[in-house]
Amino acid sequence: TKWVLTFGDGRAEGRAELRELLGGKGANLAEMANLGLPVPPGFTITTEVCTHYYDNGRSYPSELAAQTEAGLEHIQKITGRVFGDAENPLLVSVRSGSRASMPGMMDTILNLGLNDVTVEGLAKGSDNRRFAYDSYRRFIQMYSNVVLDVDHHQFEDILEMTKERKGVSEDTELDADDLVKLVEAYKAKVLKETGASFPQDPRDQLWGAIGAVFASWMNARAITYRRLNGIPESWGTAVNVQAMVFGNMGDTSATGVAFTRNPSTGENRLYGEFLINAQGEDVVAGIRTPQPLTEAARIEGDVNAPSLEKRLPEVFEEFVRVSQALERHYRDMQDLEFTVERGKLWMLQARNGKRTAKAALKIAVDLASDGTLTREEAVERVDPAALDQLLHPTIDPKAERKIIATGLPASPGAARGELVFSSEAAEAAVAAGKKVILARTETSPEDINGMHVSEGILTTRGGMTSHAAVVARGMGKPCVSGAGMLRMDEKAGTLTVAGRVFREGDVVTIDGSTGQVLDGPVAMIQPELSGDFATLMRWADEVRRMGVRANAETPDDARAARRFGAEGIGLCRTEHMFFDDKRIVAMREMILSDDEAGRRKALAKLLPYQRADFVALFEIMKGLPVTIRLLDPPLHEFLPHTEKDIAEVSAAMGVPADKLRNRAAELHEFNPMLGFRGCRLAIAYPEIAEMQARAIFEAAIEAAKSTGAAVTPEVMVPLVMGRPDFDFVKARIDAVAQEVEKETGEKLVYQVGTMIELPRACIKADSIAETAEFFSFGTNDLTQTALGISRDDASAFLGPYVAKKLLPYDPFVTIDRDGVGDLVRLGVERGRSVRPKIKLGICGEHGGDPDSIAFCEEVGLDYVSCSPFRVPIARLAAAQAAL
Ligand code: PEP
Ligand code: MG
Repeated sequence: TKWVLTFGDGRAEGRAELRELLGGKGANLAEMANLGLPVPPGFTITTEVCTHYYDNGRSYPSELAAQTEAGLEHIQKITGRVFGDAENPLLVSVRSGSRASMPGMMDTILNLGLNDVTVEGLAKGSDNRRFAYDSYRRFIQMYSNVVLDVDHHQFEDILEMTKERKGVSEDTELDADDLVKLVEAYKAKVLKETGASFPQDPRDQLWGAIGAVFASWMNARAITYRRLNGIPESWGTAVNVQAMVFGNMGDTSATGVAFTRNPSTGENRLYGEFLINAQGEDVVAGIRTPQPLTEAARIEGDVNAPSLEKRLPEVFEEFVRVSQALERHYRDMQDLEFTVERGKLWMLQARNGKRTAKAALKIAVDLASDGTLTREEAVERVDPAALDQLLHPTIDPKAERKIIATGLPASPGAARGELVFSSEAAEAAVAAGKKVILARTETSPEDINGMHVSEGILTTRGGMTSHAAVVARGMGKPCVSGAGMLRMDEKAGTLTVAGRVFREGDVVTIDGSTGQVLDGPVAMIQPELSGDFATLMRWADEVRRMGVRANAETPDDARAARRFGAEGIGLCRTEHMFFDDKRIVAMREMILSDDEAGRRKALAKLLPYQRADFVALFEIMKGLPVTIRLLDPPLHEFLPHTEKDIAEVSAAMGVPADKLRNRAAELHEFNPMLGFRGCRLAIAYPEIAEMQARAIFEAAIEAAKSTGAAVTPEVMVPLVMGRPDFDFVKARIDAVAQEVEKETGEKLVYQVGTMIELPRACIKADSIAETAEFFSFGTNDLTQTALGISRDDASAFLGPYVAKKLLPYDPFVTIDRDGVGDLVRLGVERGRSVRPKIKLGICGEHGGDPDSIAFCEEVGLDYVSCSPFRVPIARLAAAQAAL
């Protein structure tokens, strides 16, 4: 077996595709060598050795020793130096490198091969005794720390003492003799701490380092990192052994890092930093301030010391050439590490650079525009979920975050304002010109107006599909939900955490993208829907198959949805339309009525409001499909509950408080989500559905006239169990349609369909499809009912489920493919078996989740529907799913 692959001098045994075998670093070093770029020669011990090591009681394959010797031989031949030689010693670096970059593992040992003899050879060969001993003391510290387990503070203390004794503050002020003494002190420390002398045989050093890399694959930090990031243990790590090049050999030597484009803006300009006369870790350690690579960046950054461009112009020119070659070769922005040794450039690393969403977008569009990528490839390059960062205001990355509490990142974006603890307080404060954050234990439909005027919403209970989360996402407002460490006293108007009390008027900032609640007003940056954004969206639209609609009910939402490219409304939740001041009165009147006649009277008052709502939606959507769902939530949600509210409503309506109290008590349910809601309302009180149907049809006629575009409303029945309950409601809707046609003399074109959101409805989808003209999968309720997990109370126990790996993720965020997914598939198959052309969509929160959208593509849905602010994410995710 080949356990060791070499690289250097314009060729390599490996290449980029062998990432699994060579790890990311090894594969890229091989690739760069093959491209003829200046890479110090070296070899990679493969990940298969790591696997062998752990499969065989931490022992190596028998051929490894000989192959490693051959690897050393290869480096010696190219460099003309000899490992352990007293005159012309070869020094190497030893680095780990797994397939995925993995912090937590042993990283790097530099200058390996130095001992009491070779250090003199290095001093002579470099004409620089100080440099040689500086390298030696760094090596002893690094090696002792990672291989011999001696804490690096032990060495730093000695260094500090030495400087103090000499009366200097900088390492660079120590001369060669000081460093010789320092090395002696370091070696004495190693002997004292480990009971053995610092290893002098370079081969012992090398095997010690190789062993440390493999051992670090199983250290606690690496195991935790793998668990958190889903990296399999079986991958193993490779070890890279490479000839040292020195950036600390004087004023024509340097070391640096660079990105071929700006990683935060995507701007196509070389971006990076370097230090003259330094080794790699000095740039990262921040001991000295690095200089920009280019003159332009130096001037912009107003930095005094010269750029690399000015200081070493030939090196700079070559570096530009190399970085452009690498970018062309990998067809992506590169993250580079380099060293200059006495005027000669060496490349130490190249990999695709990490970047912000904004940069990802710009880079993808730029690379497709100059022909490097196809448009499809550009579409695939951008993570849809990351678009969230671009659509909402976000916290300025430079701002300080004083975290008070952390909840769920329920609706992205950042918001700041004064705390208020009720919707009324929110409305009053906003009327007085203030900006507020509405904090509630949890929200209910009564809070809609308060939520609407607030900058953001904070709750201490509730999960990712709690009322607050769903409504906030719909409104595009930031929301942190389920921040359980905050103790809320709504009556007293206080929010307490760790002894600190926040009161109404105290300013907080919430970050709905991370779930953080922050003290005080934190600086934010505004979204920018620039040309690149529109361009990428257009390309995504060219390749996707599924339609993308929005869940929207207010004109604002509908307009936002259009702006974000929605192709219709997939769910209009009509209950949200009844909380306005005047409407809620009529609504309550309806609920308090003792008989049908009373209800009809109250409903007649609601009709004009409802019709006007629908006219507005139809007009904004200009002929695009609009799916309107009949009333869904339990009626008690519309009644006042606190004594204060009851008293107010009683006075305003002229209804005895007792009557209100009794009716609320009558409507009280133990499991409202499984209670008197959905089509059950229309079955008990058909007049409600009839009023809504009439409003829809009359609005359709009116909007068709005002816009000149045909309006084909889709009337949707919620929570059906099977065909009988669906048919019952459909018959009422059809009857109203006939009445309206007769009254107006107009012909109505409309469809009646249903939500599929109960397991039984999936099972009975074939018979339901006999009469239903479309299905919309309500995966919020379907998840809740299939898993038996209350969507409003899930946060308390879903966390442990996910933490203990009993569920891979929150099933209210990403569809549970195994269970809920099977139900959807069944519904699709059975529905189509009866009505092959039936229109199929999804309007649960999963309709805006990229992984769930991929599932929707797999089962062949016609469209997804999601909150307006997720429409761009859904467009991109649907495009990627189709590719
Ligand atoms: C659903 O259940 O998935 C749905 C869209 O309806 P709601 O969230 O309004 O219950
Ligand atoms: Mg539902």
